[in-house]
Amino acid sequence: MLYRASRKITKLYSFIYWYLIVTGKKLKIGWFSFTCCEDSTMVWIELMNENFFKWKDLLDIRHARVLRKINKLENIDVAFVEGAITTESDARKLRSIRKNSKKLVAIGSCAINGMPAAQRNLFDEEQKKEIEFLVERFKQTDKVRTVKDIVSIDDEVLGCPMEEDVFLKILDKYLNEFGVINAH
Ligand code: SF4
Repeated sequence: MLYRASRKITKLYSFIYWYLIVTGKKLKIGWFSFTCCEDSTMVWIELMNENFFKWKDLLDIRHARVLRKINKLENIDVAFVEGAITTESDARKLRSIRKNSKKLVAIGSCAINGMPAAQRNLFDEEQKKEIEFLVERFKQTDKVRTVKDIVSIDDEVLGCPMEEDVFLKILDKYLNEFGVINAH
């Protein structure tokens, strides 16, 4: 009885697996970087090296400047965003990412609490005066803002750079939620 039930479950999983492979269902993702050192991007690239054969059938990478020049900002399931927001043009781009993505995940300390870039928010008047010419030259906003200051987020991966295990858990969650087979 138990044997027959387990065979049925195995058959069901095989069917789901083949259905997903045949239909080619993938999680459409984007990776975006704003003001930061892009170390979380490096962590992500390392993870892609390690998981290449598993993820190539599961992920449709629609936008990642670090991987290619031509990118599409449309119909993204999950956008991963690292970096603090320090210009109005970045804020506009972030709003556009939010508009074109079903879910948005803030990646790393810069995106989540603005640090270390947001240290200048705490400067006294004298320190602000010293950096004024740089703020103007690079069209920076008066305050450094977090991703959450501009748009709503669905999840966040803390760390500087991001914590790999948390990233993998969140990716897994969305692979399940969007009906793509479990990555593990
Ligand atoms: S959170 Fe840390 S590692 Fe990531 S971009 Fe910011 S400074 Fe760099």
